[in-house]
Amino acid sequence: SAPGAGVRLDDLPLREDLRGRSPYGAPQLDVPVRLNTNENPFPPPPGLVAEIVAAVGEIAGTLNRYPDRDAVALRTDLAEYLSDATGVRLSVANLWAANGSNEILQQILQAFGGPGRTAMGFEPSYSMHPIIASGTRTEWVPAPRRADFSLDAAAAAEAIAERAPDVVFVTSPNNPTGQSIPLSDLRALIAAAPGVVVVDEAYAEFSSRESAVRLIDEFPARVIVSRTMSKAFAFAGGRLGYLAAAPAVVDALLLVRLPYHLSSLTQAGARAALRHAKETLASVRLLSSERDRVAAALSGLGASVVPSDANFILFGPFADRAAAWQSYLDAGVLVRDVGIDGHLRVTIGTPAENDAFLAASKEIIP
Ligand code: PMP
Repeated sequence: SAPGAGVRLDDLPLREDLRGRSPYGAPQLDVPVRLNTNENPFPPPPGLVAEIVAAVGEIAGTLNRYPDRDAVALRTDLAEYLSDATGVRLSVANLWAANGSNEILQQILQAFGGPGRTAMGFEPSYSMHPIIASGTRTEWVPAPRRADFSLDAAAAAEAIAERAPDVVFVTSPNNPTGQSIPLSDLRALIAAAPGVVVVDEAYAEFSSRESAVRLIDEFPARVIVSRTMSKAFAFAGGRLGYLAAAPAVVDALLLVRLPYHLSSLTQAGARAALRHAKETLASVRLLSSERDRVAAALSGLGASVVPSDANFILFGPFADRAAAWQSYLDAGVLVRDVGIDGHLRVTIGTPAENDAFLAASKEIIP
């Protein structure tokens, strides 16, 4: 056995607050149809693959040197993309990038959360928000959504006013339920917040709702918009997340980020992917119409479907969701049990993958 295998986790002088916790653990199984982590099912087009290979080839000869610590060229490209996408003129000073938006969220909590501070989220939502809070020793303060998983903005604003959290997370569109929230509701939440409000827009490209980027100039000390290239951009393996906020927020994150956190290879790969944004994002339209097709087909099978403007659907009801999850797996389809009573979540895949999922659903949905 491995050297040191005799010592167990419980034997280590671990922080007390981490004892008994479970790590993030979406199963990574080798299954024909993988619809469980909200990736874009379409691989990068050949032109982009060739460009990434060329970019990596160029960088390879300079790997003895550290990367640009501030990723200025990449952030400039991100500013251009996000300005185009949202209609809000952003500059490089508004953008920050990291290894996935999970690292962005961690840096935000390192700077604005931490011991003695609190972070609030509206559950059910993205499971990593409380886990990153825990890792940074930020006390997690959950507040509820409505029974239909929509966000009651008045109740949310009241919860914020009452608990006065240092950080508020609003996921829009919300993972794992799928609904996004209008800017008018966001304004009410931000107005009630004494600290920063992080709008997690990981799935924004799939939604026709206006981005919270529009609110940065209105609430410069409050609003942080987190984004990722892992979903619509089909770049999950490249690990590139980013945020848009007032330049001072970026200054705050410089205090906690590790120097050279974004490798030269990541920066070059992401820039190549951004040059191909139009081509890659063309899949968003197809995936959105597939989502609507899958939702209608599930409803036709008698399932209840939570409305979604993301690339996944929460559906049910299952008396035994663990058994239903296993039945899908037995049929070669990996979906996600997100821990919500009676429900499972399915990511929208290629038309053929969605057909396989629907064929399995015919047998599994009661
Ligand atoms: N936010 C939300 C709402 C997500 O669903 C995810 C990925 N599941 C992330 C952030 C993090 O993704 P990444 O680190 O790949 O950017």
